[in-house]
Amino acid sequence: MEPEIVRNVGDLRARLATWRVGGETIGFVPTMGALHEGHLSLARAAAEKTDHVVASVFVNPTQFGPNEDLHRYPRDEAGDRKKLGDAGVSIMYVPQMQEVYPMGEQTRVILPELGDILEGAYRPGFFTGVATVVAKLLIQVLPTLALFGEKDYQQLLVVQRMATDLSMPTRIEGLPTIRESDGLAMSSRNVYLGEEERVQAKALYEVIKDMARRFRSGESPEALSQWATGCLVDAGFRSVDYVTVRDAGNLSEVEAFDEKRKFRILAAAHMGGARLIDNIAV
Ligand code: AMP
Repeated sequence: MEPEIVRNVGDLRARLATWRVGGETIGFVPTMGALHEGHLSLARAAAEKTDHVVASVFVNPTQFGPNEDLHRYPRDEAGDRKKLGDAGVSIMYVPQMQEVYPMGEQTRVILPELGDILEGAYRPGFFTGVATVVAKLLIQVLPTLALFGEKDYQQLLVVQRMATDLSMPTRIEGLPTIRESDGLAMSSRNVYLGEEERVQAKALYEVIKDMARRFRSGESPEALSQWATGCLVDAGFRSVDYVTVRDAGNLSEVEAFDEKRKFRILAAAHMGGARLIDNIAV
């Protein structure tokens, strides 16, 4: 069944109140639409774990830089609605701009450490935009559980940290990255890749997998970053923003592999007109 579309927060709260008084749990999956299997895996997991699922579709302008793809970001409300229905979602929340930014943009949620490195260094203001909009949406929906993809690993850490710091009553969980058959992480932005670029793009996952193996066998993070950058450029990437081994908990730089610690390899690189990101656990 197709989910009901709700476009304003008053209607949303009225709808959710009936479930909440009955003691039923609410799952939440925030998205920017143009939905693919990655998003739908989150929606299906939410439907398994909670009584009712709300998925939001909102292309949040405050997380795009001035030269980024806000105006060409893919949009497909009818297609998204059908997919969400098949995934077990009850409400598709498509807020209008004034529902999210009723008086413009004054109050912001800033994570000056976690939000300024890696993605934050290359996309200034990005995590302020993300943390602010996710905080707003979590306050509007007040879900029991909210699901995010590990595809955006730093974003997952930012949202978890924000929810902890702001004493939000929602449990935040991350779920594994869903990939195409050749390993490329699914992304709404993969449509920007030309035919040949799409084939070359699979190198990103291959290189970070190799990097994980070499890091485990003792190679230094610094040498590995250099090596991986060369591999990506040879594979057809136009430029590499970063490809780096980090502590999996706080994304700080690391010296060497240690079996007792958790690490994460994160990468961002440009292929044609697309900026691709990926990451894996070590
Ligand atoms: P977006 O629409 O790009 O803002 O993504 C909405 C949610 O879907 C975020 O929690 C993403 O991390 C998640 N997501 C996007 N792509 C994938 C993927 N390939 N696998 C798993 N989750 C994903």
